[in-house]
Amino acid sequence: MSSKRYLFTPGPTPVPPQVLAAMAEPIVHHRGPDFRVVYERCLARLQEVFRTRADVLLFTSSGTGTMESAVANLCSPGERVCVVSAGAFGERWASIAEAYGCEVDRLAYEWGESPSADDLASRLAERESRAVLLTHSETSTGVVADVRSLAASAQETGALSVVDAISSLGAVPLETDDWGVDVVVAGSQKALMTPPGLAMVSVSQAAWDARGTLPRFYFDWERTRKAQAVFDAAFTPAVSLVAGLDVALGILLEQGLDAAFERHVRLGRACREGIKAMGLELFSPDDDGAAVVTAVHAPDGVDAGELLLRLRDRHGVTLAPGQGPLKGKIFRIGHIGWFDVFDIATALAAVELTLMELGADVERGAAVTRAFEAYEQPVHA
Ligand SMILES: *Cc1c(COP(=O)(O)O)cnc(C)c1O
Repeated sequence: MSSKRYLFTPGPTPVPPQVLAAMAEPIVHHRGPDFRVVYERCLARLQEVFRTRADVLLFTSSGTGTMESAVANLCSPGERVCVVSAGAFGERWASIAEAYGCEVDRLAYEWGESPSADDLASRLAERESRAVLLTHSETSTGVVADVRSLAASAQETGALSVVDAISSLGAVPLETDDWGVDVVVAGSQKALMTPPGLAMVSVSQAAWDARGTLPRFYFDWERTRKAQAVFDAAFTPAVSLVAGLDVALGILLEQGLDAAFERHVRLGRACREGIKAMGLELFSPDDDGAAVVTAVHAPDGVDAGELLLRLRDRHGVTLAPGQGPLKGKIFRIGHIGWFDVFDIATALAAVELTLMELGADVERGAAVTRAFEAYEQPVHA
């Protein structure tokens, strides 16, 4: 096994050394001035990254925890919610809502399709729902949905828009307040360049006023909002992760969100162009929107699972497999967060080498050259 490891998955993602260093600092007590300074700054930075003036509530949990919090805080037993589902994470929304006894109205697409705001508007006109549960970047397929239009369709019928932005926040534009999105959930381990373990949720005033009666305790928004108002967390937060997140958000904001969005567009282009130059077929859309993860069909005769095992065991390179019905058929290269074009080049070179070892017919040497060319192009040419 190769000793150097390369992590190219769409979560968790590589973490910058400054963030790791902040997390290695001695533990501070969570109810004292040492932590308070970090907590206060981190919460303010989160509002900037979420592009909202509303509170962003911070929980120690994986991203799914704040997805669950959205259902538990917004809904009442038996209420109808509309789930727009075009992949594994849309299905997760449906599973959570069903677990809480909501009536789930699925607006379902084939995995890999892009949901349409018109379809949503017609569905809501047929059957009203209290909330629409959306996935911004459907990480299982590489599709980034047009959340702005989808949220507008929800808003027209008075339904709350709830967006899973776990793999998109900090990578592609999401204007929470300007687009009138009611609830946005995110996690630390994707474009926010922090290890797994923290999750966040922003809540608009309309969503706040429309909270339901489903049971909740740890994830009760009210309890956490009251505590955050005095920077005295409701429960013991993962203090080291908060220290890390604070540094990571500082890096992101110093560089500027717009610069980060542009870099992700160029990384996506580089990855797609490299894949095509090798002679492989994209599963994710071939457009600038797909800036989070590139999903690729395994070539004929190659099982994607076998390719990934070999990449990991022989070359120390970790890519992501297909999920659900796409298992074995596709593989995914994540390019969010602390990523640059050399990471793309490494991923492409490793895929090319390994496919050759497996006897696939690939064009050698073209991918990396093409990736660098694509990366050099200005975004707004
Ligand atoms: C990673 C991811 C999740 C799941 O987050 P966890 O932190 O594993 O709970 C949910 N939705 C999307 C779109 C994701 O990419």
